[in-house]
This record gives sequence, structure tokens and C-alpha cells, in this order.
Amino acid sequence: MKITHINNELNLSHVQHRVQLRGWVSKSRRMGGMIFIDIRDRFGITQLTVDQHSTAYERALLLRQEFVIHVSGIVVERQSKNPSLKTGEIEVQIDQLTIINTSETPPMLVLDETDALENTRLTYRYLDLRRPIQQNFLMMRSNITQTIRKVLLQEGFYELETPILGKSTPEGARDFLVPSRLYEQQFYALPQSPQIFKQLYMVAGFEKYFQIARCFRDEDLRADRQLEFTQVDIEASFVDQEDVIALIENIMTTLFLEILNISIQTPFLRMPYDQAILTYGSDKPDMRFDLELKTLEATYKNNESPLLSLDHQAYILIDRVITRKEIDILTETYKKHGGHILSYAKKEEDSFSGPLTKHFSNEQLQQLLSKNNDMIILATGKFNQVYEPLGAVRQQLGKILDLISNQTYKFLWVVDFPLFEYSEEDDRLYARHHPFTSPKNEDEMINQPLTAKANAYDIVLNGYEIGGGSIRIFKQELQQKMFEMLGLKKEEIVNRFGFFTEALKYGTPPHGGIALGLDRLVMLMTNTENIKDVIAFPKTQSARDMMMDAPSKVDEKQLEEIHIKVKI
Ligand code: ASP
Repeated sequence: MKITHINNELNLSHVQHRVQLRGWVSKSRRMGGMIFIDIRDRFGITQLTVDQHSTAYERALLLRQEFVIHVSGIVVERQSKNPSLKTGEIEVQIDQLTIINTSETPPMLVLDETDALENTRLTYRYLDLRRPIQQNFLMMRSNITQTIRKVLLQEGFYELETPILGKSTPEGARDFLVPSRLYEQQFYALPQSPQIFKQLYMVAGFEKYFQIARCFRDEDLRADRQLEFTQVDIEASFVDQEDVIALIENIMTTLFLEILNISIQTPFLRMPYDQAILTYGSDKPDMRFDLELKTLEATYKNNESPLLSLDHQAYILIDRVITRKEIDILTETYKKHGGHILSYAKKEEDSFSGPLTKHFSNEQLQQLLSKNNDMIILATGKFNQVYEPLGAVRQQLGKILDLISNQTYKFLWVVDFPLFEYSEEDDRLYARHHPFTSPKNEDEMINQPLTAKANAYDIVLNGYEIGGGSIRIFKQELQQKMFEMLGLKKEEIVNRFGFFTEALKYGTPPHGGIALGLDRLVMLMTNTENIKDVIAFPKTQSARDMMMDAPSKVDEKQLEEIHIKVKI
């Protein structure tokens, strides 16, 4: 059906032109002898009018919300203009109207300001996605993806695919398993990332690979996490950390300039992991504000105070006294993140108060709280009970004190990550990034694993990790050693990773890469806090697809075919 214009296009320069438009009826109302119709497409809205003498009048009376129509008419200047609409200076007096399709009354308002509950929105996601705000999120997503693709192609990368059905290699998050019909009691796993395959592309000599890859991790959902998510997955041969960093900075600066018209300075800030934890209580600190964590110096320690004789103390100094209620919010956050004891002291009208005061001498308080309205919030306990929980408090304080602007974008590279993590529960080492990450120093990896550092890096934007990667192990012996350090027995290594260690024997080039979390990146660039906004068909917080009603039971016959018996 031919059109002359889209619905955000017409203005005073089109007055007296005959135009043809199509779209959905967003609103239709009768006033006096006139019918006013808002017609909507993915670009915008145009107001149509039909007066009672028009040949289209009778048919226009039939219009309801979400009918699909095609119209022809003359553009006229509006009496009362609508400055909030791009086409708000004109309206189209229509004399031809075709109803292409009708619609039942939609179960939710297809408007930006909808009062529909999330469950309704997700059940009728196709209607929810018709809302301009949602269309904008996904349009931005498409533009962002295309810009990233463009930069990578310009840089000589190939866009290549990797399998969705693979092997379960249970190092990392929980796998989604797919039972095999042909091989009884055997399973494929959905990829948590294309990690091994992208490295095999390097072994195979492709040198520069990328993929907009879907990844699956069977983990509990959070506001910024889904069961399946999209990574911009990148790998290149003969590169070092600086090459990967430069490539990503190129992608980010191009993206922000082309999509948001914001120019971002390079090089991005860099910080070693240890410094990030000690100064910001986080491996992904939000650099839009300061509020650094300070460690209480030894001179303040008072062994008679049970509080101050605990292993670690760190505090944040602020120059505004916050309310009791705000302190309660902070304490809740602190505890939720595994914090032990959080306390405070403040100075108002030259006197000190707060539960912390009794742990310090007056002189010490004078040093800690030098000005009126100064306040310190102090965390004490074991290392893990102090720094990261206080980091969460810092983030919350940033909000309470109104220090965070959502118009600002602060990138940060966190580098020099630990190679391993020790699990007390399992009494073994885990790879902090993944088992293919190379150590900074091989002797350290073997002899001081707990303090050994990795050639791994994360890119952080406004307190969110938006990507992470590493320079990989490319020598077979070292990879073998790494698996052994992770407590894998020889047979396990052969069973799970044999194909990979075998591949490393045949002239593997040094290589490294990174994966960017596309959903999170789009979420930040569109200024929303909910990752579902930028995913067309997301799962709910409780991991359900409301629209399809999945997961769901399957027929007995289907189960039999894959040799599965459900336990009841
Ligand atoms: N595959 C890694 C991840 O998903 C990223 C990488 O090392 O390139 O975190």
C-alpha cells in the first residue's frame, strides 16, 4: 500500500499537499462534527481529521484503537499546535480511508504512559513493543549493533558463527543441558560463551573473529541479568592487552559519537583490581563520583575497643549529616552484601555524636571529623565483610547525596585481576576469569597462586561491567598445568577439554580477546535501569516467558524419545 510520507515527517512546508499515510490508530475521538485520529507508525504520530461531510466519515466512525489503516488527504495548518509532537504544527484532513485490519480492544494501553503491570506487558509483549518508548529502545539496539559491526569489519575482523549445541564443561556458571535423542543418557550443553570455539578459530588461523553471540547461563535472574544474553564476542591473534584495549576504546568512542553525539576522551582511566577494591570497594566502581574508601590508620586503632581491634576497618567521610532513615537504608545494603558491623559518628554544632564516638578519643574525633556536618561511616570486620559491602554503601551514598548524574559516562579499565579465587567451601582454586586466561607470571601461578595476577581486564561503565576478556594461554603445557591447578584430574582434563589441549599442540598463535555485554551496553546508552527494556522478548524475574508460557510440560512421547523419565 503506497504512502507518500511516514508519520513523523509532515510540517508546515507540506501544507496543501495531498499525502498518503498508513499506520495504527493510536487514538480516535469525536468532537462536535469532527473525528480526530492519531495515526502511529514506528517513526511517530500524525493527527488526522475527518469532518462529517467527508466521504471517509462513516468509515471513520468505525475506527477503534490499534486498527490498521491507510489514508489519503490534504495537509493543513493546525489551529492549536502541539509542540511536543514532531508533526504538531499540521494535521491531515482525510477524504479516503481504508481499514486494512481491525483490532480487538487491546488489554493494555499502547502508549508510553501505560499503567499495565509488567506481567501484562510481557504476556502481550507484541503490544508492549508497539509503544514508542519500546520501539526506541530496540531501534537504538539495532543502531548500536550495526555501529559495532561496522567498526569491527573496518578493522579486518570476520563475523563467524559457533555452535549452539556443545559440550558441558562445568567450569563457571550452571549449564543448560539438552538431552540427546540419538545417544541415550548423553547431553549437549548450550554455550555460556563461545570461548573455546573462538580460540579454536585462532588455532585455525583466522586471526580476527567476532560474533554477536547468544550465551546461556542457568543462573538466578537480577535486574541486569537474563538467562540468555548477547555478547559481542571478539578474539584476535598476535595481540596483547594494549591492542584489545585500543580496539574497544575505538568501538566505544565511535558508538558514543555516532549514536549519542557524545565525544568520549581516550585513553580511558585504568586501575588495578586491588586499588579498585581498596579505594572503591568494587571491581566495577562507578567513577562518576568520588567518595573514596579510606582505611583507618594504625594510630586510630584502640585495642580496648572490640570494634576497632577487628581485622579491617574502612570508612567513608561525607560532608553532610544524613538522616537516621538514610543510615538504616545504608545498613540494610551493607548487610545484604555480607557486611558485618557498620557504624557512624558525626559533628554538629561543634559536638560529636553517634555510636562510634565512644571508640575514639576526642583528639582522634577532631582529626576524623574536622568540620561541622562531617560524618564518617565506618565498616569493620574481615576483609570480605568490609570492602565490598562498603563499596555497595558508597554507591547508595552517591544516590542519597545526589552525586550521580545520568548524563555522564565514565569508562574505566580494571586490570591486573587475580588469576584464581579460593573457595573455602570446596577447598580448591577456581579461575577468576576462566581457565584459559594466562598468568602474568608462570612461577607465581604455580608457587603463589593466591596472589598471582592474570592478564585479564574488564571494561566498566558507570559502575557496570560491560565487558571482560584476557590474553589466553597458548602453550599446551601451561594449559595443562592450569587445569591441574584447578584441581582437575588427568582423566577429567582429557574427558572435558582433551579436544582443546590437543588443538593447542599444533602451532597455536598467541591470542586474546574480550566479550562485551550488548544488553547492558544498550541499557546504559538508552538510560534505562531495566535490562528487559532492551530485550525484545525477555523472561520475567522468575525466569518465565509469560507470552509463550515457557518453560512448560512436554508430551510423554517426547520424553521417551530423549530417554528421560520425569521424577515426581
Ligand atoms: N568468554 C569470556 C566471558 O564470557 C570473555 C572473554 O574472555 O573473551 O566472560
